[in-house]
Order: sequence, then C-alpha cells, then structure tokens
Amino acid sequence: MRGERPVAAKQKFVYSFTEGNKDLKDLLGGKGANLAEMTNLGLPVPPGFTITTDACKVFLQTGTEPGSLNEEITGHLVALEAQMGKRLGQADNPLLVSVRSGAKFSMPGMMDTVLNIGLSDASVTGLAAQSGNERFAWDSYRRLVQMFGKTVLGVDGELFEEALDEAKHAKGTADDLDLTAADLEALVATFKAIVLRETGRDFPQDPREQLDLAIHAVFHSWNGDRARLYRRQERIPNDLGTAVNVCTMVFGNLGEDSGTGVAFTRDPSTGAQGVYGDYLQNAQGEDVVAGIRNTLQLADLEQLDKKSYDELMTIMQTLENHYRDLCDIEFTIERGKLWMLQTRVGKRTAAAAFRIAVQLVDQGLIDLDEALHRVTGGQLAQLMFPRFAPTAETKPVAYGIAASPGAAVGKVVFDSYTAVKWSRSGEQVILVRRETNPDDLEGMIAAEGILTSRGGKTSHAAVVARGMGKTCVCGAEELEVDTKNRKFTTADGQVVHEGDVVSIDGANGRVYLGEVPVLPSPVVEYFEGTLHAGADVQGGLVQAVHRLMSHADGRRRLAVRANADNAEDANRARRYGAQGIGLCRTEHMFLGEERRKEVEHLILADNDKDRETALSSLLPLQKGDFLELFQSMDGLPVTVRLLDPPLHEFLPDITELSVRVALAEARKDPNENDLRLLQAVHRLHEANPMLGLRGVRLGLVIPGLFGMQVRAIAEAAAERKLAGADPRPEVMIPLVGTVQELELVRDECERVLAEVAASTGVNLDIKLGTMIELPRAAVTAGQIAEAADFFSFGTNDLTQTVWGFSRDDVEASFFTAYLEKGIFGVSPFETIDRDGVGALVKNAAQAGRATRPDLKLGVCGEHGGDPDSVHFFHEVGLDYVSCSPFRIPVARLEAGRAAIETAGSDSR
Ligand code: PEP
Ligand code: MG
Repeated sequence: MRGERPVAAKQKFVYSFTEGNKDLKDLLGGKGANLAEMTNLGLPVPPGFTITTDACKVFLQTGTEPGSLNEEITGHLVALEAQMGKRLGQADNPLLVSVRSGAKFSMPGMMDTVLNIGLSDASVTGLAAQSGNERFAWDSYRRLVQMFGKTVLGVDGELFEEALDEAKHAKGTADDLDLTAADLEALVATFKAIVLRETGRDFPQDPREQLDLAIHAVFHSWNGDRARLYRRQERIPNDLGTAVNVCTMVFGNLGEDSGTGVAFTRDPSTGAQGVYGDYLQNAQGEDVVAGIRNTLQLADLEQLDKKSYDELMTIMQTLENHYRDLCDIEFTIERGKLWMLQTRVGKRTAAAAFRIAVQLVDQGLIDLDEALHRVTGGQLAQLMFPRFAPTAETKPVAYGIAASPGAAVGKVVFDSYTAVKWSRSGEQVILVRRETNPDDLEGMIAAEGILTSRGGKTSHAAVVARGMGKTCVCGAEELEVDTKNRKFTTADGQVVHEGDVVSIDGANGRVYLGEVPVLPSPVVEYFEGTLHAGADVQGGLVQAVHRLMSHADGRRRLAVRANADNAEDANRARRYGAQGIGLCRTEHMFLGEERRKEVEHLILADNDKDRETALSSLLPLQKGDFLELFQSMDGLPVTVRLLDPPLHEFLPDITELSVRVALAEARKDPNENDLRLLQAVHRLHEANPMLGLRGVRLGLVIPGLFGMQVRAIAEAAAERKLAGADPRPEVMIPLVGTVQELELVRDECERVLAEVAASTGVNLDIKLGTMIELPRAAVTAGQIAEAADFFSFGTNDLTQTVWGFSRDDVEASFFTAYLEKGIFGVSPFETIDRDGVGALVKNAAQAGRATRPDLKLGVCGEHGGDPDSVHFFHEVGLDYVSCSPFRIPVARLEAGRAAIETAGSDSR
C-alpha cells in the first residue's frame, strides 16, 4: 500500500558466544568477537553472550535501552542458565556472571567491569555450599559490593579501600588473605552501609537488577573521562560505542589449585619467540593488574599444574596459528580446570612489530604483503630516532609539543651566534628561544636540538627542524625564556643558565634537566649505508626493516622525492632512497650574511641599473648552489621553486632598526643606509605577510628576479650537461592563484631558457610547473594546467588558506581546545584534511589531468611525509610525494602499504 514502509527485520542486539566470530569487532567489540572465535575453535571459554555496540549507541543517544534488549537478554540468560544447570543468583546454587566492557579497539582499563554479579545476602550461602569454601563466598560478595558500589553506583572507591584497610589493621595484617570468613562477612555489612549512606539506597539484592544496572554502567563508561582522553590520544572515533560481555564466572581464587594469569605467544617488547607471561596463584584477574602480590613467571606454572600448563601451551600455539600473529591471553585456572577469558592480537613495540612480521613470513603463516600491512610508518619513525633511556629518577621539567622526534642532549644556548661558536669548539648545544626565525638557521644547524616556548608543529622551529631531522620541542609554554639574560625558568622556579645541560625528547615533547642517556638507532645506520642490510644486530631488526622496505619499494606506485635545498640534504635524501627533489626552497639559499646583503641591495634598488647590479651579483651564487644540487641528484628530477617568502624576511627587524636609527639621530650621526633600509622596511611592512607580496607576486613586481633564478638554473644545467652529466631541473612557480600570473611568468622563463640554450648550445628540456597552494588555484586547476607541465600541491599553504588558519600561530593557541572538543582528531597541518583540503586536491588533480593528461602531480607540503596523508595521495592518483629527507623511508613504506591496501580492496 502506498505510504506504508516495509517492516525492517528486527535488529539483533545480543549474540551468544557461539554466534559471533573474530571479524565482527565493529558489532561485538574486540573482546566479544574473540571470545566467540575461541568458543568456535572449541577452546574452553566460559559460556556467555555479548550485547552489541549498536545497543550501546542507542542507549547513549536516547538515554534508554533499545526496546527489545531486555527481552533478548532474558532469552540468552535463560539459555545460559539451562546450559549451566543453575539460575542467576539462585539461593542454593547461584550462577554468577561477569559484566565486561569491550570496544572495537582495545582501551585497556579505560572502561568498567563488574564481577560476581548474582551474589546477594541469600545466594552468598549457596556459593559457600557450592564451593565448600565460606571464606571465598564472602570474599566474592565483598568484591561485588565494592566494585558495584564504585562503578555502578558511583560511590568513592576510597571509602571501600579505607574500610578494607581498617579491617586488616584491626587484624594486625597487611594481607587480604589473613581475613577470615567472619571478617569478610563483617566487611560486607560495612560496605553495604557505605552504599546506603552514600547513595541513599540499599545494595540491590535482585540479581537481574544487578545485571541490568551493571550493563548500563558499562555503556556509560564509554563516555567516562578516562575513556574519552584515551580515545583522543589514540585517535579512536568517539561514536563507536562499547559492547558488553556477560560471561559465566570462573574463579581463580578457590585455593592453591586455582589462579589467574596473562600470557603472550611471543615477547611483545622484542618479538622473540617463546612463552611469556605472569601467573598468580589463588587470585582473580584484577589482582594481577593491581599488582598487589608478586606474580610468578608463566614457566613456573609447569611445576604447579603440569596438565593446565600443557593445555595452555597447546592453546597458545593454536591461537597463534589461527590468528597468524602474536596473541595475548588472559586465563584462569579454577581447581585445576583451565579457562580462557580473553585473547587478542597483542600490542607490541615498533621493533617487535618488524621482527614478528618477517618471522611469520618465514614460518609460512603470512605473505610479504600481509607482513608489510602489519607494520607502520609511525613504527619505522620510532625506530629511526635515537631514544632516551630515562631512569626512574628522571622527571621532565616541562612538556612541550613533540615537533620533531629524537633525543638531544646539550648545553643550553640562547642565540645562534653562541650555538655556532660553541659547537665549533666541540660542544653539543641545545638552542633555546621563545620562537625561532630565519636568522636562527645557522644556530639551528649547529645545535643538537631546538627548544622553544612558543609555536606549534608548523612553527618555523618545527618545520625547519623536521626538515633537518633535528630534534625539536616547541611550545613548551611552562618555560619562561629570557634570552636577554641568557636563562630560562621552569614552572617550579628552577633557573637554567647558558651552559647548563638539558635533554629534550622530540618524540614526546619532554624536557629534562641534566643529561639523560641516549641510545643510537641501527636503523638509521642502515639507511645511511654504514650498517649492512644483512647485519645481524638487535635480534634481526635491520634485516627485518630491509626486507619490508624492499617489498614496499617493489609494491609502491607513488615515487618519493625529497624537500632539500643543499647538497648535504640532497645526498642524505638519495641515501634514504629519494627519487629526486620535489621542493628546493630557494629562499634558503639567500641566508647567511653575505647573501642577505645582496638581497638587501636588490630590495633597496630604486633604478634598473642598481637592480641589475644586485641581480648579477646573486646570479653566480645561485648558479653555484644549483651546480651542487644537480650533482647530488644527477639523473633525477630536481624541482626548484622560485623565491617565495615576503621580502621583509630578508630585512632587519623593524624594532631593532628603528632603535638604531633613532639613536643615531640623537647622536646627530644619521646613517644613510640605515635610513633607506628603514624606509624599505616600512614600505614592505604588511599586516598579513603570508597573504601579501610573496610567491609569484614577487616575480611579477620585481623585474628580473625570477629571470635571474631561471638563468642560474639553466646555466648550471647546461654546464653539467656539457660535462657529460644528466641534470634534470624543473622550475616551479609558487603561490599562483590564476593562470594569467603563471602565463606571464612562464613567458619570462621560456625567454630566458631560450637565451641560455642559444648561448650555450645545449638543448635544455626544463619543465615549468606551479604549486597549487591557494583555493583559487585548486578550483581553477583546469585552466592553470594550460600553462603548467606539472602541479605540486603545497598543502601547508593550502591548509592555511582553506581553513583560514595562520600556520605559524594556531597550533600553539587554540588547537588544543579544538582537539579536546573533538572538532578534529589531529591537526590538519599534520594529516591532510580529506574532506576539505583533500577534496580540493582530488578535484584539482582531476581537472588538471582533464586539461593535460600527462600532467605530473606531486605534493610537497609537510603532509608528503605523513603516513595517513601518503595513503590519501596514493588514492587520488598523485605521481609522487616529497618530504624532508628523514621522512623518506616512512613515505616509501607507507606508499607500499597504500598500494597493497588498494590492491586488496580492488579484489574484494
Ligand atoms: C606549502 O605551502 O605546502 C609549501 C610546500 O610551501 P612552503 O611551506 O614553503 O610555504
Ligand atoms: Mg607554500
């Protein structure tokens, strides 16, 4: 009938363990899916059922359970009771259950669990009779009231702990095990009184009410503070919800022939094969986690209970072969009977991940594609940085932003000059500034690490340090940096003077006073070529990295280039596997006093002659730079970007210069040059320099500037060609917003190229392309492609202009609040914002190729070395990513992973 919607099949919210499987993690959570998988493998899992994440989502959205949930739970409970031959909370023979959270991604200890549901004043005696152990029954009831009171009824857990301590104190003992059945019975009465006093209600005696309230509490715990914080850090989406597992209780605390433990099928910290784990006799699960008694090594279980141990070993082997990966396991032995309470593919360190992946290939359990899929660029990055080995006493004095990973130790200096001077005399220094600017570059190069109290992940310090592979902690706002007096002060008032030693950890943003020991990375030695690929160090780590890198290289479609502007970086990039330079920022070639002076002359020139003189002084310097770069990258493309930053960056600081001029005037000794400079600084001053006279705009208003650069490129290329080499420069025009800009500059470039070709007699085939880093350029990419041989997406500026976020400011100001509010899970300057900036990239790529099918497409923003973003660039069909030399291995690995993942999804 019209208007009538078909009745949807009734949604199922509860699955018995026999109904699920390991692939249903979205619905059943990791724990529920794996309990079902183990059940179906015939392993000894206590029977139970899982309430789905969908039920949790409905509950959290509407404040009530889905209508059919109650009925479904009843159905499953009845079946469970029939299977076990006892009813939940039955007075003379109670069935007891645990209620455990379990989300899709493991969130260890972040959500709630309640054990021993079903115990009451009536059933506690039944449990005593059933177990033949009165003490155990009262202890179980005591635990229920405590856990339920705290997690379900919201009573302050300390109140129970205090009462427990008092009971032990009265007994003159520190050990729970010395409390007798009578003591525990009294404690239950005390706990119940606490519940009544704190909540105004009695501890619920109805077992079904206990169960329902516990389920609701687990649902609610998805949105608890701990869980939210954990999700933010681990980038787990907020809308997944948790499943709830209701599982028959088994007891590890029934005497010496009982116990509980955790085990790993391989060592999760090294990857070494073998059996690792801990066992605690006569205990329940939370006792192991709480660390209240010293655990035994798993191997000791063999002596205590050989039958259970052997069975556990067989099960662990079964699980590893079945999951084809390292598994971690929780188990309980109840009076000599082994029960599996949980398994999952276990977390591991970065080194273990690489080793285990190749071990499994060698065992024939997985192929190389799968092995590559199982390691990440993030793990590789961790392996590449030297790391601190902090001792128990090392406590950070500040937490900044982890801007560029690594561990650096050195003497504090506060200016570039001292950094250079001290490092030349063999000192390791840490350059400490409020924030850095291009003037600090030499000091940054000389320093072991950089520490700033302001700025975020795309601040000058961060970007430059990452480019250099130098450790950097920025935005450590607790530190008060006083460069004038050469000291900084920590939040707790400690004053650190120039020359004092500090240690900074760029992987986590921590700042320590004094020297923390550092371990070198063999993986970097391997990429540098100083350690052979077959070197058997650190348990085969380098061999594992080599195998997976080689496989990634064989698989990837994306080429990987480097952002480099000097021979040293270019050479390193090549050693690390770069297939060319994707971005040479020529402004970096104008730093240093001598060259800056030449640029100053150019800016001050007010007639053609002076301008030409300045340009012709710069020409040989630039040409020399390019000769070196083309030599390093012989046979590979080198994309040279013409000058981009606003000119005032090459002029002295306005305040300093004003003071100097004012003082000179006061002395009646004005300096003509300073006066002209000051005028120029005022003339060029911009409120928004990032949106001002920079990029292609400079090329259009300063006659001859871009021409000089192109001439230097062309002459260097011609010279190399004449010497028999194979230079492959490409010229890139920055900050283009409209095709007209590009056409004008292109004409000039072509004219210069033709002149150089004619004068040298060398056939120069130099491609001319542009950056796409403004929204208008992205939107009109089809037109821009008419005048471009290639596009390189400048996703730093594109992110800045699409969001309207100043890239130098926002990360240190309001981004923390944005991250906390979940507006985004990660800074869009770090990982490409697929929906916004990414959509523009995708459309521009398509529009560009529609105009010019052979258009070469790359990316050279910071995102080019970010793992998630590399996957995106692969998906949208770019030809290459370009990133700082130190990130090249990560980009290679991730490009390989992206290729196998797409191949996998194509074949599905
Ligand atoms: C960009 O904007 O992404 C880019 C690579 O250029 P720069 O960072 O030098 O502005
Ligand atoms: Mg840019």
